[in-house]
Amino acid sequence: MKVIKGDLENLFALQELIFENRKLEQDAKLLASGADLESARNAQLANSAEISAARAQHETLVRELERLEADLALVNKRVATDKDRLTKTAVARDALGIQHELETLAKRASDLEDAEIELLEQKSESDMRMHELEVLGEKLEEDFKITKARVQLELAELKTKHQANFQAAANLRKQVSQEVLERFEARLLRGIAIGKLQKNTCTACNMSITATALSDLHHVPTDELASCPVCQAILIR
Ligand SMILES: [Zn+2]
Repeated sequence: MKVIKGDLENLFALQELIFENRKLEQDAKLLASGADLESARNAQLANSAEISAARAQHETLVRELERLEADLALVNKRVATDKDRLTKTAVARDALGIQHELETLAKRASDLEDAEIELLEQKSESDMRMHELEVLGEKLEEDFKITKARVQLELAELKTKHQANFQAAANLRKQVSQEVLERFEARLLRGIAIGKLQKNTCTACNMSITATALSDLHHVPTDELASCPVCQAILIR
């Protein structure tokens, strides 16, 4: 098959464009599959779940604290009543009983106050945790928006590049003789269609060519199409 040097160079450039576009198509597929968006969305969902759990815990604490304060109020009320009774009683035995009860009540009030301090500390930590989670939630929302915009932009860029390559490939095809182009397209279906002979190696398959085959290749006239004896790719010599 007759071929001119310019055809081979054009085919080589055409192949580069075709391979680049295949890569761009894969990249676009990956981007469009939304893997990046999904991971951003999952981070948001995990944060929402944590906020719900933290809020439930926080509400439990608030209820416990209310119960404790109510208990403490009852004890204090009882203390006030007993103190009043103590001033009014003249019976020594009754006074002793009231005093004993007051001691018990004082101990109870002290225990409740200790528990209250403990709960207040827990509530303060819980307040901080809730705040941190909410701040994180806002950041994740922002991340999601940024990721979405980035994916859209990258897809648009891929599309532009793909279209430009496609157009350049169409122009190159027009410049190559029909017969050579058909041979190229047929080989391309099976893999790399055109390679360069570098010393004794074919760049399409990266295999060394035997001395005999190499000698045969050198005997092919320069205006004839030569192929790699190993992978059958068209060779630029
Ligand atoms: Zn080869």
